[in-house]
Amino acid sequence: MENEGCLIAGQWVPSADHRADINPSNTGDVIGMFAIGGAVEVDAAAQAAAQALPAWAAAPPQARAAVLDAVADQLTAQQSRLGELLAREEGKTRPEAEAEVARAAQIFRFFAGEAVRLVGDVQASYRPGVRVTQEREPVGVVGIITPWNFPIAIPAWKSAPALAYGNTVVLKPADLVPATAVELAKIMTAAGAPPGIFNLVTGPGSSVGTAIAEHPLIDAVTFTGSEAVGRQVLATASARFARVQLELGGKNPMVIAADADLDTAVECCVAGAFFSTGQRCTASSRLIVEDAIYEPFLDRLLERTKALTVGDALSAGIDIGPVVDERQLATDQRYLELARSDHRAAVYGGELVTAATPGHFLRPAVIAGLDNSAVINREEIFGPIAGVIRVADYEEAVAVANDTDYGLVAGICTTSLSHAEDFRRRAQAGMVMVNLPTAGVDPHVAFGGRRRSGYGPKEQGSQAREFFTQLKVGYTAS
Ligand code: NAD
Repeated sequence: MENEGCLIAGQWVPSADHRADINPSNTGDVIGMFAIGGAVEVDAAAQAAAQALPAWAAAPPQARAAVLDAVADQLTAQQSRLGELLAREEGKTRPEAEAEVARAAQIFRFFAGEAVRLVGDVQASYRPGVRVTQEREPVGVVGIITPWNFPIAIPAWKSAPALAYGNTVVLKPADLVPATAVELAKIMTAAGAPPGIFNLVTGPGSSVGTAIAEHPLIDAVTFTGSEAVGRQVLATASARFARVQLELGGKNPMVIAADADLDTAVECCVAGAFFSTGQRCTASSRLIVEDAIYEPFLDRLLERTKALTVGDALSAGIDIGPVVDERQLATDQRYLELARSDHRAAVYGGELVTAATPGHFLRPAVIAGLDNSAVINREEIFGPIAGVIRVADYEEAVAVANDTDYGLVAGICTTSLSHAEDFRRRAQAGMVMVNLPTAGVDPHVAFGGRRRSGYGPKEQGSQAREFFTQLKVGYTAS
């Protein structure tokens, strides 16, 4: 790909410095050179967004809906090409990547509808002759900071509601996946987005991300990524009273009740723990299994995991693509080594895989025999690694599921309606799955976690308006 620079006020502004975007399935394949922006580019983008704001905020909702609909059309038309690019850049398999592009299109379509569905209310006053109105207005310029693991879905689920409700945007994608974000920015322009409503600044978090958190013209910052960086963004942006929304990590439990259907349980665990190379905030990283079915479940899980094919994300028939880069691979290996040496746990899988191309290929790993206090069962690893935890009974399973600093999603496999209902009530998580993998959510409903998994209003669905609009109360005497 050519180096396009940063998109600011509708123009691609070239950059003096560039970073290579490398294919994790084949480290000899350079996808392109991408701009290393910094505080100067963020300042220009924030000014452009602020300038574009009044007209966009005042535009009829149908005009905003038309742009978002056109973005959805373009994403759908280019699904195959963008899916290939995304798989090449991030390393999820091509079917997963194409599904992510389709998901981004659904999100833009949904928020095109939301733009015209925004309602307020009118109420009687305590005072005779006075009418009270409550209306939602845009927040202003929204800074968007996104991680590498969903290069188009997360930029979509933050940009689409921001724009639908009349805000303007400065997007900073993760350094590892600028190519997909550049394509999204081109689609915005092609879809008729007025200059300045959507600005893109690529570059490192330490300069571009920090500048977004600090910039006085940026009224709200929505961030998805790690807890450590989220904490910094929150401290910086909230210190100047900007709105902040954080979506962070997870250590998501999947309970396998003694009454579970084993086929369903194994499929849910394999999909939840290992698909997308386990690099999902919603991945099932703790498989909590009742003693009564522990052995048969583990046997079948290991058999199914062994059969997974690992290799080039673009090859047909591959179940698991590469780990995103050498740093994440080193992290995964460090946790595996910790489990083997310090904890003396049974580690199945987790070997490096040699393929036809040089890539970061790691066989999915199951770590058995450790309890919930082990480091590998407490810290987010963000790789194709799952801990299997044996518990005495259902009550212990619920307690262990909730014994975590995180609270993004929790799942249970059970054939008992009362266990399903009970678990949904008692799980301390933003989302609960019954007989479904923990990863894989719908685009039209709220998304988000509790505790250290999230901060501020939830994302997606109609709920997104809580963050991307602000309420104005009017009193009118007549
Ligand atoms: P990260 O925190 O390293 O980076 C996220 C973004 O922040 C990137 O764009 C990065 O460049 C930027 N950044 C880095 N330093 C910054 C700074 N000082 N100031 C401002 N921005 C900065 O996360 P990552 O490695 O890209 O993604 C993995 C993490 O994201 C995992 O913890 C995962 O659980 C989380 N995640 C959460 C969700 C969710 O919805 N809860 C979804 C996907 C990923």
